[in-house]
Amino acid sequence: MTDLTKYTPHAIVQSIYKSWPARRTTGHRAHLGGSQIGHHCDRYLWYQFRWADCDDFSDKGRLLRLFEHGEVEEERIVKDLRAIGADVYPVDPETGKQWFFSAFGGHFGLSLDATGHNFPDTPAWRLLEFKTASDKSFKELIKKGVKDWNPQYYAQVIVGMELSGLKKCLHITVNKNTDEMYAESIKPNITEATRLLDRAERVIFSNEPLQKCSEDPAWYLCKWCKMQDICHGGRVAQVNMRTCVFSTPTRDGQWYCEKCERNIPESEQHTHHHLMRPDLVPYATAVEATDDWIKYESEHGVFFNSNLDEPYHYTSQEMRDYKGTLPLDKEAEEFRTAFDGKVVGDD
Ligand code: SF4
Repeated sequence: MTDLTKYTPHAIVQSIYKSWPARRTTGHRAHLGGSQIGHHCDRYLWYQFRWADCDDFSDKGRLLRLFEHGEVEEERIVKDLRAIGADVYPVDPETGKQWFFSAFGGHFGLSLDATGHNFPDTPAWRLLEFKTASDKSFKELIKKGVKDWNPQYYAQVIVGMELSGLKKCLHITVNKNTDEMYAESIKPNITEATRLLDRAERVIFSNEPLQKCSEDPAWYLCKWCKMQDICHGGRVAQVNMRTCVFSTPTRDGQWYCEKCERNIPESEQHTHHHLMRPDLVPYATAVEATDDWIKYESEHGVFFNSNLDEPYHYTSQEMRDYKGTLPLDKEAEEFRTAFDGKVVGDD
């Protein structure tokens, strides 16, 4: 019989991978991040800020470990820069925390890898951004420069300079295969920074989902997008305060619940009571609503999103969990009602 162990990771490696989800925080971020604002799709950013979906890393230990690779490399680059005489500050000496700048009441936020001055080529202060790249990607970077190689990375430092007031940026990338380094000075670009911050404002405060970059789920950038299921796949969004029909981000950086008539802190946003926004229920049309329910029509009939214990009433979580089109058929619904059942999914 074929020895299958050579096709699977060693038990020790499997244990290490399994340990990662508990070691690294993943999930939704409170603010729209500066590292995201150059993303190619407005709709993606709108979903992201509203916690409409996210990757599940519970069985992706290898990937989580890979994310740390970049952070380890950052420490090495800081050492390298100090070794050639530069003064480098990975954290703000006044707070002891990572450099962080925000806008729109804190709904938008951007961290810097470091700041520094007294470099061999200039004594001026610089924003410092560090990346790693595979050999193939690194070769492309050398040919194209940061702006054309990765517009999202470029956007991040352009907005970073605008928010921090730093007038120079040094962008350093390390080839993960060979340790070769590439450094590029990037100048401020006020026009582009303003455009990107205007975009952030639209993403944060638009009460309508912003435009999709493509209506074709097979388009290569949509095909690998983590929002694919809710964007093109007919799946209902995740359940949390930000996907609730009663929630609004306010100009002072809060999330306001119109039903409770109060701001909801981030710690409560994951579990706050819920009626799904109709624009996040892709397969049905909302036809009527009260404070307690929303009535929908789908190709399978009429149903309600509510927290009431009545036939054809489904909670937002049931709508999220069910991968098909609600309502259930008559027999299944009668069974659910008779046995006080819940609609569940397979994840
Ligand atoms: S699937 Fe495509 S259109 Fe939808 S959010 Fe992702 S990139 Fe945008």
